[in-house]
Amino acid sequence: MTLLVQKFGGTSLGSIERIKSVAKRIKASKEEGNDLVIVVSAMGHSTDELTNLASNITGQPSRREMDMLLSTGEQVSISLLAMALHELGEQAISMTGNQAGIITESAHGRARILEIRTDRIKNFLNQGQIIVIAGFQGTSLGIGGIPEITTLGRGGSDTSAVALAAALEANACEIYTDVPGVLTTDPRIVKNAQLMKSISCDEMLELASLGASVLHPRAVEIARNYGVTLLVKSSWDNLSGTLLTSKKNNIPTKGGIEHRSPVHGLELIEHQAVIALSNIPDRPGIAADLFETLSKGGVNVDLIIQATHQVNKNDITFTVNEDELKNAHSQCLHIIKSIGGEISTQSNMTKLSINGSGIMGRAGIASSLFDTLSNSGVNIRLIATSEVKVSCVIDAGLGTKALRSVGDFFKLNNKQISLNVTTEDNHEPEVRGVAIDKDQIQISVKNVPDRPGTASNICSILADNNITLDTIVQSERKHEDNTKDISFTIKKNDRKEATIAIKELISNWQGATLEEGKSIARISAVGSGMPFTRGTAAKMFRALANKKINIEMIATSEIRTTCIVPELNGEDALNAIHSCFKLGENDS
Ligand code: ADP
Ligand code: ASP
Ligand code: MG
Repeated sequence: MTLLVQKFGGTSLGSIERIKSVAKRIKASKEEGNDLVIVVSAMGHSTDELTNLASNITGQPSRREMDMLLSTGEQVSISLLAMALHELGEQAISMTGNQAGIITESAHGRARILEIRTDRIKNFLNQGQIIVIAGFQGTSLGIGGIPEITTLGRGGSDTSAVALAAALEANACEIYTDVPGVLTTDPRIVKNAQLMKSISCDEMLELASLGASVLHPRAVEIARNYGVTLLVKSSWDNLSGTLLTSKKNNIPTKGGIEHRSPVHGLELIEHQAVIALSNIPDRPGIAADLFETLSKGGVNVDLIIQATHQVNKNDITFTVNEDELKNAHSQCLHIIKSIGGEISTQSNMTKLSINGSGIMGRAGIASSLFDTLSNSGVNIRLIATSEVKVSCVIDAGLGTKALRSVGDFFKLNNKQISLNVTTEDNHEPEVRGVAIDKDQIQISVKNVPDRPGTASNICSILADNNITLDTIVQSERKHEDNTKDISFTIKKNDRKEATIAIKELISNWQGATLEEGKSIARISAVGSGMPFTRGTAAKMFRALANKKINIEMIATSEIRTTCIVPELNGEDALNAIHSCFKLGENDS
């Protein structure tokens, strides 16, 4: 028997007609001989409507009461869908998260799944029933063992479905939605977005957490960790959709389905050099000119960071392999001559990175890394973060010491630690998809002390308030008083709490100020062939320059390049970048 978990999203269940047509589709799949566990979201926009009801009463509803409220949306869908299946002559039973044995941690509104007690589901499957489970919700054991309803966070029913597929060892998990599968970008903004036949979980994890709302990032994380066969398909037709690929892992669930040790690997890459251009003009086209020249000159750039503006001036810092430094330096000198600015280089640097899908959404991981480094007296020259990786560039002399202390802190064994390992070209596309995230604001903390521990202090204070920083950028140039600037982006919702926490922290640092940023959009290009292709960033910068869009911040990690632009220009920027990588139909 084939066991399938099928998830139907809100739009697929937006009306009674749609619920009936989903029921017909489920019946057909049952008649093909499949055992079925169905996971559903709330009908249409009902979760938004419930949220609005609450906001008419209070601006700050209790998280527990919000869970009580929002979980009702899914309960409407499960019962109606079960009734529609009964009408078609099928045996079906609906279950809430609690009844289905979905146990979560107790954090209301963002609970992670700890385990799924599958006995009940299996019993009903053995009786030939179709099981219809409410997505997005679970139960925590609460105080005194009394069950409490929890929710997983917006978009979380994808996560319920994939977690059920992992726990039941289902043959596949199929996510049915209102688009034909995963597209090269959001089709609501870019009209000629194309369907991808397949995408790796690593790439999807980045895209999903950078704004591609078609899948909940935590669902991708579980699929990747447990090797679940995951498909995204349209609920309107029978086409094959998109297959998510991952290496079969099936790592045992130490600590829970979504609670494995956050860091899996630590790597050190030596012989790196940092090139810092400072006081260069802040206008569209500068980054494009620079990186086009470098790429034409044969330089493969690794991390790129563009830090805070200082009265119409920018700093751009990037890393290259030490043996490319001479070439890169002479190309930069050439450019600086025509645009102005200063250049400084530093060889004998080392890149230290931690990786692991558990870094995502856990504010404390990056801050623990920075803290461990600062306790070992290591000053961080550059920071680059992605959802699954945090990299720091440090002085080579302290590399081994740093490796040892970070390895000890995250309890990594020798097999998880690598030194100077280079990966082979995988011949994958440099950019597979692009995403936009308009839910962020930029914050700069200016004139912070340039000493080990500063970045870690900022991250920890935010982590204590459960706020994750996204793109962290530390300026290269020091002010006359030997201080630096650090910029980062956070979710709009976290603005108030973040500013209070940071203001308190910096009151201890003489002269430090907080600059609350403007609304921005983050545009990210993701592709696992990126590390092996020269000039990817240059193409992206040129596309923005051609549209006269100024780049506020740049941050890269291994398989993605992110540009932060004014929110106003976000959609134009997304279209320009999508077509510069020829991702759309008729883009040539
Ligand atoms: P559901 O209700 O089925 O969970 P969602 O609204 O959560 O559906 O997700 C589907 C939507 O995600 C699509 O309608 C589309 O507008 C949006 N989307 C954003 N980025 C992408 C992408 N790269 N591929 C497909 N859809 C995307
Ligand atoms: N109904 C919830 C939401 O709208 C969960 C989901 O749709 O995945 O966020
Ligand atoms: Mg969704």
